[in-house]
Formats: sequence, structure tokens, C-alpha cells
Amino acid sequence: MNIALIAHDRKKETMIKLTTAYTFILKEHTLYATGTTGTKIMEATGLEIHCFNSGPLGGDQQIGALISENKIDLVIFLRDPLSSQPHEPDVNALIRLCDVYEVPLATNIGSAEVLIRGLSKGLLDFRTIQKEATLKPLSFDN
Ligand code: PGA
Repeated sequence: MNIALIAHDRKKETMIKLTTAYTFILKEHTLYATGTTGTKIMEATGLEIHCFNSGPLGGDQQIGALISENKIDLVIFLRDPLSSQPHEPDVNALIRLCDVYEVPLATNIGSAEVLIRGLSKGLLDFRTIQKEATLKPLSFDN
């Protein structure tokens, strides 16, 4: 699966702890990240990551573009809920696109762990499940 990893500055340490603990799962997947987050994860874990621009310089939008092309299966976006970001519109746009394209999204370490553990059990391959069962995308809106 294709996984996008993003962490705001005060959440980078948490992202490193998360990716270090779950390297054994994440190494089986294709990883993308915003610039600084990706570089720090690679240094700490040795994981191979395709790094985009830094978030404030367009990295969030680059990941958003991949989501809009159905190329991302899971997003882990550890946001800092206690400080405002200069690129807040990009942050909101990325989260919105996850909802538009029904991409599983974790914005804190609690939900991130559940999703990563789900990955290791094959529970998140919902696109395959949809294809096999010819179901419509899962949605809680209706
Ligand atoms: P960064 O970007 O990984 O380049 O710090 C993250 C963000 O702030 O969106």
C-alpha cells in the first residue's frame, strides 16, 4: 500500500517513535512524506521514503495531488492541535481530500497505531474488498 506520513514540528518526535516501533510493518509498504518529516524518519529508522517539499512549501499539496489521483491508501498526519500553522489552508485541504476519496486518515498517535496494526492484518485493503464485493465505497454519511 502507499502510505503518506506528515508531522507538524511539535509532533515529529512522536512520529519518529511511531515509525521506529512499526518499522517492521511500514517497510513492507511504499512510503511518502513531507520533506522534513520524511528526512527525520529515514535518519531514525532507515526506512526508504519518497520525500516531497516541506509542508509549508507545498508538500501537503503534493500529497493531496496523489490522493486525488487515488494513489494513496493511508495517511498518517500528526497535526499539532495547539499552534496555528502558516499553511493551515493546505492542512485543511489535505484532510478534506482524505474524506472526498475515503482514504483512512489518522491525526494522532492513537488512531495511527490502530491503522498501522490494521495494515499488518490486511484489514485496510478496502479497495480490494470493494472490487471483489462490487460494493460502493464505505460511507457513514447516509
Ligand atoms: P515538514 O512538513 O515535514 O516538511 O515539516 C509538515 C507540515 O508542516 O505539513
